[in-house]
Amino acid sequence: MIQNVQILTRNDSYWQDNEWKKWLSGAFSSPNNLLQHLELAPEQLPYRVLPDHPFRQRVPQPFVDRMEAGNPDDPLLLQVLPLAQEAEEVDGYVEDPLGEHDSTLPGLLHKYQSRVLVMLATACAVNCRYCFRREFPYSDNKLGKGDWTAIINYLQQDEDINEVILSGGDPLIANDDYLAAFIKQIETVKHIKRLRIHSRLPVVIPQRITSKLVELLSSSRLQCVFVTHINHPNEIDELLGKAMQRLHQTGITLLNQTVLLRHINDNAETLADLSEKLFDNHILPYYLHLLDKVKGSHHFDTEEAVAVDIMQQLQYRLAGFLVPKLVREEAGKPHKSWIDLANNNQ
Ligand SMILES: *Cc1c(COP(=O)(O)O)cnc(C)c1O
Ligand code: SF4
Repeated sequence: MIQNVQILTRNDSYWQDNEWKKWLSGAFSSPNNLLQHLELAPEQLPYRVLPDHPFRQRVPQPFVDRMEAGNPDDPLLLQVLPLAQEAEEVDGYVEDPLGEHDSTLPGLLHKYQSRVLVMLATACAVNCRYCFRREFPYSDNKLGKGDWTAIINYLQQDEDINEVILSGGDPLIANDDYLAAFIKQIETVKHIKRLRIHSRLPVVIPQRITSKLVELLSSSRLQCVFVTHINHPNEIDELLGKAMQRLHQTGITLLNQTVLLRHINDNAETLADLSEKLFDNHILPYYLHLLDKVKGSHHFDTEEAVAVDIMQQLQYRLAGFLVPKLVREEAGKPHKSWIDLANNNQ
């Protein structure tokens, strides 16, 4: 924390390209190193950790800085630590819960009418253990320049599409020059009005909101919507606030999506705090997602009835615009499914 305060008083060099890349390449990839850093002895933990999972641990230092040393139940730690429970086979948890593994074109998913999702990058800065894309065959979906042409042609031919969503992996793993070149291509399609970016990268490395990126997004003819992915109020520190302020100042709309996770944020108090803290930082809560049942994530799942109860408490506590929509994603549906609270009274 002290380190962050010093950084905020430094000049603009902090928001240059080499800064975030340094944090990215130095991310913790070994559970043992991470535990040691947090002063946790593996034999004293209330759970067993997998030292070597094929979906590797990956967590950058700026995110680790927001974890509490000596706390094995830290809500940020539990999102990134590979636990033995991941190896358990549980009925109903499958590799491709959303039927996404066959994309429309390489790198493009067109499931909903007015918007398409482009998987611009195949990796993330953090590997979230509950991630529904943890089993995604990314190597079949790497974007080459030929794929760009195919994607732009696809957009040209469907005037119902008015929004392009950059997703991944994490689209901000791509560097600013690559993003600039791609956005320039999208701008050539006249009926595209909006660019949406779904990214968790600035949450784990706030320095990703480089001056170049801010300039790029604010100077585009496309209206920009930036959707962060924050699950717990402890994820928001001063540095992340600063990064969000930089986007907000240029008029970019900031929204947040959260995944409801057992033992991490599955209570009204935590989620109410989260909403308040998001808004303190110019971000509006957008979606609260029920977990997608991907293999290895069953220990994070929360029952729908519990989720509805939490939502009803949020409605009491919060201004209407601070209550996120509770949704579930279902394979083959033309939009996300909103969970009806009114007819769900127990
Ligand atoms: C979630 C999602 C979107 C965006 O949906 P919104 O409800 O507009 O946020 C678009 N495409 C795919 C494939 C998605 O999963
Ligand atoms: S950042 Fe998003 S896409 Fe990447 S592992 Fe985490 S939840 Fe999954």
